[in-house]
Amino acid sequence: MKLSFHGADESVTGSCHLIECAGKRVLVDCGLYQGGRELDEENAGPFGFDPGAIDFLLLTHAHLDHCGRIPLLVERGFRGEIIATAATRELARLVMLDAAHLHEEDAERRQRHLSRRGSKEAVAPLYTMLDALNALDRFGRTAVYDQRIELASGIHATFTDAGHILGSASIYLELEEEGRRRTVAFSGDLGNAGRPLLRAPRPPPKCDVAVMETTYGDRRHRPIQNSVEELYSAITDTFSRGGNVIIPTFALERAQELLYYLREGVSIGRLPRTMQVFLDSPMAISATRIFERHPECFDAEVRELFREGGDPFALPGLHFVRTAEQSMAINRLVGGAVIMAGSGMCTGGRVRHHLEHNLWRHEASVVFVGFAARGTLGRSIIDGASQVRLFGQDVQVRAAVHTINGFSAHADRAELAAWHAAVRPEMTCLVHGELEVMRQFKVLLTDTRVEIPVLDQVMDL
Ligand code: ZN
Repeated sequence: MKLSFHGADESVTGSCHLIECAGKRVLVDCGLYQGGRELDEENAGPFGFDPGAIDFLLLTHAHLDHCGRIPLLVERGFRGEIIATAATRELARLVMLDAAHLHEEDAERRQRHLSRRGSKEAVAPLYTMLDALNALDRFGRTAVYDQRIELASGIHATFTDAGHILGSASIYLELEEEGRRRTVAFSGDLGNAGRPLLRAPRPPPKCDVAVMETTYGDRRHRPIQNSVEELYSAITDTFSRGGNVIIPTFALERAQELLYYLREGVSIGRLPRTMQVFLDSPMAISATRIFERHPECFDAEVRELFREGGDPFALPGLHFVRTAEQSMAINRLVGGAVIMAGSGMCTGGRVRHHLEHNLWRHEASVVFVGFAARGTLGRSIIDGASQVRLFGQDVQVRAAVHTINGFSAHADRAELAAWHAAVRPEMTCLVHGELEVMRQFKVLLTDTRVEIPVLDQVMDL
């Protein structure tokens, strides 16, 4: 029995872990590395195992850094079964097709650039739409929370609610090989219990080995209500200065959560009814529709709202912006608008246009409501850059920059420690975090052996 680590080791993105047991190979997640050009090359690099030899892929949730290399895995020979919850499957479809589209566009752009300079070099996308469609064909059984699935003789998997995004799961594996039994719990990404929409994470049973995320293992989130208040103030202050509020947002979860809070803000009179809100992201719009199809994933309060025929994501001045023309038309608005656009880390997508048009204005605001990895444009702005590069030109940062961390879809230090205390492992492997953060979190874990694996490290279970 072996456990090996092939991504999100001493770093946050690219989650990928491999279990070998009873002659079978089970992968947990196959995520994309995000943040900068070197990481693009890492994505195209070898997986560290033979994709054709993998029997099962268990997917914890649909974020790109957990599912974004699946099309490449299939292109390189994976023919096994992918198992995920119903909501994850629908969201992963959206995420992988969108990623394939962006990779194709990016390759075309780089090709044009090289050809113009007279280079004969051929640029291929990391993967294509066709690869993503082939990956969709690999989805097999649907995981239901708390129901045990037999993968093969001696290998059982149970998905439990991770409370992180719609459909997200921790995965508990029961392994048996030649009479020896081991249990391994993969946390996946763990949610933050105080948020609306989703239920709190539900830890798997006690396990021998835990593989856990540590994104915010060094900090304590402020109560969500403070963050909501901060958001409302950022919006009303910006409107009184006559500017727009740009919210770089992840299309999944965060966008829907913001719609939920903006709707609340209008209904309690804290935000103006005349406020114009643009959800400028076809992907976030599609994701919102998927959310509306999965009331089973929500907490009791939101399920009740759905039952009464309400829509937690509908507010008066909301505009869904699908086309590029509509998106560009927003650039003409100089004030009074809340513009939510991807990508959350500002690495691509329509938010870059909105930043180009607003970042240099004193009256505007940029509100970050999520994590931005090192090396991304989002992170530079958060870290106080006075000038950034957008579309080949320097843009001054004069807008007010707000970083509101309480919206995090990730558990904080105390919540991670509580999850760990619930699964009580003999050995804990820390993944999905920056190294200093892991070291700080490690000191909390006293009655367990703690490992911080490096890329491609193999452990005997
Ligand atoms: Zn995630």
